[in-house]
Amino acid sequence: MAFHLLERERERGLKLAAVLEQAIQRIGHCSQCRNFSEESLCSLCASSSRDRQVLCVVESPTDLAAIEQATGYRGQYFVLMGRLSPLDGLGPEELGLAQLTERLGVGEIEELIIATNPTVEGEATAHYLAQLARAGGVRPTRLAHGVPLGGELEYVDRGTLAHAFGSRQLLD
Ligand SMILES: [Zn+2]
Repeated sequence: MAFHLLERERERGLKLAAVLEQAIQRIGHCSQCRNFSEESLCSLCASSSRDRQVLCVVESPTDLAAIEQATGYRGQYFVLMGRLSPLDGLGPEELGLAQLTERLGVGEIEELIIATNPTVEGEATAHYLAQLARAGGVRPTRLAHGVPLGGELEYVDRGTLAHAFGSRQLLD
């Protein structure tokens, strides 16, 4: 990208640099959900139309954006900005889990939707978060893993198929 900008798009490159500089200077973190925000409270946390009894925990702002675009979820979020990964120096403190525990302890939240990624570290994080939720008297739920829409069973990897088979649901 740098070579392309230098070769043909120097003017656009300068504009991009200015926008990046502004973003880096202005954008911080929401004090409640930790997502990127220009204000101390982001628009999602400040909104009065979001359900305050459901909190969805995601690893990154892009995961939050994906859920917002794909689902009709109307609750609130908490963004970890990572996942538990001791080798990378990411522990409960770096993920803001003290802040999350405090929020769970207020008594407003009834369900904690754990939407960390289905990776080894994401699953370990989910396990930890579920314990936090239970300790705070909050019901933890986990996103289902399964066969993708339009997918065919013979091409689905064994781990996903085993998970999907294990969490089959009653048809009603
Ligand atoms: Zn927020």
